[in-house]
Amino acid sequence: MRPLIAINADWADTPFERAQLRPRYIDAVEAAGGIPLVLPPTQDPTLAAAMLDRCDGLLLSGGDDPDPRLYGERPRPEIVPLHPRREAFDLALCRSALARRLPTLAVCAGMQTLAIACGGSLIQHIPAQVAGAIAHAAPSGDPEDAPHAITIQPHSHLARALGSSRAMVNSRHHQAVLDPGRGMRVVARCADDGLIEAIEPVQPGPLCLGVQWHPERSAALAGARRPLFAALVAQSAARHRLAA
Ligand code: MN
Repeated sequence: MRPLIAINADWADTPFERAQLRPRYIDAVEAAGGIPLVLPPTQDPTLAAAMLDRCDGLLLSGGDDPDPRLYGERPRPEIVPLHPRREAFDLALCRSALARRLPTLAVCAGMQTLAIACGGSLIQHIPAQVAGAIAHAAPSGDPEDAPHAITIQPHSHLARALGSSRAMVNSRHHQAVLDPGRGMRVVARCADDGLIEAIEPVQPGPLCLGVQWHPERSAALAGARRPLFAALVAQSAARHRLAA
């Protein structure tokens, strides 16, 4: 039985209101053997929990910047805010997924929202706040144009999925996790500047992994990409069998 994998949609209000999602998230789940189900940010964010009751796993998609007031800071001018409707819904999704120990893969802004849901904090704008940081975003805007190496903690979901203590990742972010939050730990850092590139819960359990890079960009590519979707789908399928 193919597991049902929830994917959160973005919310845009120009030029007209709509829920939307880049198809590569959908395609990556489908290619890994899951059934992708796109979740719209609802007016009542508590519906997120009811949606996850029907799903076997969660893919948190990338997006714009979480509101720094969520971690007690005033927004810097470089902040491109997430739509409040999506932000409230995504936080509810994170909290519900953690409470259910639902297999979860969180990408880029999804990982940052996961950290904030756990009481963590972000670096608002790397180029202005981290001396000596490498370029984590290329001028072209293409993540493939800013690759860098990461070092991976052994005995982590990430190390098991990739079978390696080092990997090359693509990169397109101007923010980074500063504090992964209560009950969370850092499992990968940029090999060049030490910025946080992946987080997981401290306690062993079902897959819960936030990554700063974009594994969905090409489900066909090897490296630190396809195995993450394979792990999400395998663990979601196992949960589905247990619940049946
Ligand atoms: Mn990076």
